[in-house]
Amino acid sequence: MFDDVIDFIQDLYPENKSIPLHEPRFSGNEKKYLNECIDSTFVSSVGKFVDGFEERIAHYTGAKYAITTNNGTSAFHTALLLANVMENDEVITQPLAFVATCNAISYCNASPIFVDVDKDTMGMSPISLEDFLKENAIIENQQCINKVTGKVIKACAPIHTFGHPCRIDYISNICKEWCIALVEDSAESLGSYYKKQHTGTFGDFGILSFNGNKVITSGGGGCILTNNEDLARKAKHITTTAKEPHKWEFVHDMIGYNYRMPNLNAALIVAQLEQLDGFLKNKRLLANSYKEFFQNSNIKFVTELEDSVSNYWLNAVILKDKAQRDLFLDATNSKGVMTRPIWTLMNKLTMFKDFQCGDLTNAKWLEQRIVNIPSSVTL
Ligand SMILES: *Cc1c(COP(=O)(O)O)cnc(C)c1O
Repeated sequence: MFDDVIDFIQDLYPENKSIPLHEPRFSGNEKKYLNECIDSTFVSSVGKFVDGFEERIAHYTGAKYAITTNNGTSAFHTALLLANVMENDEVITQPLAFVATCNAISYCNASPIFVDVDKDTMGMSPISLEDFLKENAIIENQQCINKVTGKVIKACAPIHTFGHPCRIDYISNICKEWCIALVEDSAESLGSYYKKQHTGTFGDFGILSFNGNKVITSGGGGCILTNNEDLARKAKHITTTAKEPHKWEFVHDMIGYNYRMPNLNAALIVAQLEQLDGFLKNKRLLANSYKEFFQNSNIKFVTELEDSVSNYWLNAVILKDKAQRDLFLDATNSKGVMTRPIWTLMNKLTMFKDFQCGDLTNAKWLEQRIVNIPSSVTL
């Protein structure tokens, strides 16, 4: 079973004995910049690579400001704090998600609410979001109140799953109408655009991750995107221990976090960013080969929508049912072709099982059928 798929993938990566899902590629100035960084002795909390990267990534995404952090989760936590998410507040997100999103909501002592995803984007469904709000919420004094729990719904956190943009303009309009801050989890979608605008720049904040498995990596790292100057200044402040600028005095004006990206990691990501366009071209070619291959099979390959450009970070296929999915996972992994099912729905995890859910038909359907297939940049 699935021998044709396995042969096809093995031919895509002839240099690999066993084929990983997504491995980083270091083929540019990585070693040069790392050596420069070490020679300068500025390997830690300040340095030219951090500042240089923030400018470059802002320019690349079209965000007015970018603030680097030590990972994507800390970037998301910071964005939620600055969206004023506090104890007892609620944040609407999707159940089909990596756990980091819900963890960051919990760090604010807030609770997640789960609404459904669209089948074609695997990201938050604007219709599901709107239906949930119409049924459960009212606006009082410019705040969105959940009539069921009595709590304030402060933010909405959709995810551009596997790099495929969700219907973010529609979601953004709903958030404005309902006085909810929009914090985009664009951790997976660097290089992805919705209606020609870079993902992560539609809301009050967007976040990126540069973890080892993402499109480009700093080892560990993340970034907050925003167009608001005041919030950008606050984001820098709160992620760098909230220290008041002074030559020698240590005065901190609030509880801050040590969430900054070390210069050493920034040296790596600057070199990686230089190669991003090449990586994206390569990933698009790979996705096109997959698309063509799966056209004549009963496995569906997930593609970008007409009005979006996906970075095709992690390629995904949809199997007929859970039984077929399990056979596929077994056949591929036993031949050294690494494939993985999509995440377990967040509302099923012990920590998040008691929170409010909308209708989750699509998320449940996709959870049983989606498998990620090898997606590294090919030689
Ligand atoms: C990777 C990822 C994160 C978290 O990023 P880290 O850098 O690993 O902390 C958050 N959300 C999603 C959807 C991710 O894929």
